[in-house]
Amino acid sequence: MTAAEPGRPLPFGAPSVTEEEIAAVAEVLRSGWLTGGPKVRAFEEAFARYVGAPHALATSSCTAAMELALRAAGIGDGDEVILPALTFSATAAAVHHVGATPVLVDVGDDGLLDVSAASAAARPRTRALVLVHLWGRPADVDRARVLADCAGLFLLADCAHAIEAEVGGTRVGGLTPASAFSFYATKDMTTGEGGMLTAEDPGLIARARAECAHGLSRPAHERAGAARYEVVRAGRKRGMAEVEAALGLGQLARIEAIRAHREAIFRAYDEGLRSLPLDLPPETPPGTRPAPHLYVVRLLPEARLGRDALAAALAAEGIGTGVHFRALTLEPFWRERLGVGPGSAPRAEAIGERVLSLPVSNAMSLADAARAIEAVRRLLG
Ligand SMILES: *Cc1c(COP(=O)(O)O)cnc(C)c1O
Repeated sequence: MTAAEPGRPLPFGAPSVTEEEIAAVAEVLRSGWLTGGPKVRAFEEAFARYVGAPHALATSSCTAAMELALRAAGIGDGDEVILPALTFSATAAAVHHVGATPVLVDVGDDGLLDVSAASAAARPRTRALVLVHLWGRPADVDRARVLADCAGLFLLADCAHAIEAEVGGTRVGGLTPASAFSFYATKDMTTGEGGMLTAEDPGLIARARAECAHGLSRPAHERAGAARYEVVRAGRKRGMAEVEAALGLGQLARIEAIRAHREAIFRAYDEGLRSLPLDLPPETPPGTRPAPHLYVVRLLPEARLGRDALAAALAAEGIGTGVHFRALTLEPFWRERLGVGPGSAPRAEAIGERVLSLPVSNAMSLADAARAIEAVRRLLG
């Protein structure tokens, strides 16, 4: 870990990779088997065990995992899928790519899907509900499950921010029928690019697995030596490579240490950013343990700088920040495609104009956090 130096770039999210992980990747490169094989299977099993889900499929991204899940659940043309308006575009894009229509529903003041609004938005063509554990904070899984059961909806969780999040001592990935994770380089653990689908139903994973490997009846590592397979559908190619899984196994083995490191950065921000014109992340409800993924402050109207001006001033000092997210109802593609616009999801839109994510990464130190705190205090104080 390096000490903070003024002017040195402090990215808002940066991965850490250990020498052991580099050695594990190099070993795969020397092994002669680079595509999905035993390391991918081992990573799927270890990850499923970690989140408490019975079955898992490693994928090329979280977006791919969500798309595979929806397709394997039989969702497609003419169907509607409810999701929160405050999320990354990928959540809606996965729905769009299976041919279904995203229905953007407003969030509560906590930024998470308003399940009552979701219930009101359910119509005869609604087939699925996608929960998003935004910023690592658990969404209301219990109420979403009740709604999904009553309305006959497939329930999928976008867990891109929430690998380590827990409710009642169970990781959120073990709480929904299907859950999708991202191992993109800015997430809490990484495989470079990569993702995971976990599910309660082994049939869902089997269908997604077949789809994922060209739609062939047997994957390559099971065919070695025997060329015979049958084409059972026009599949896609969305799997994980062996090198990525080797990195993922190393990252997963230290996920609790990663979590502790990120939590220490969160606590430093909690302490250091008091009494500024900012709302800091509130406590989560009792019994829930958020993943320390994004430290999101909300600028108050009386602040000397607006959100974008603060982000620009921090960027001028080399301090990276992020906006997670502008409401999808304000984004040009979704406005045009879905006929939404300002006022369609007022709470999501208002939150999206005020949020700023401060640097939190596996590679940064507490001295880096202190530098970010000093800059924010000076700019807003
Ligand atoms: C990063 C992210 C995704 C997409 O993950 P990929 O692995 O890049 O596909 C989806 N949803 C949310 C909320 C994200 O932050």
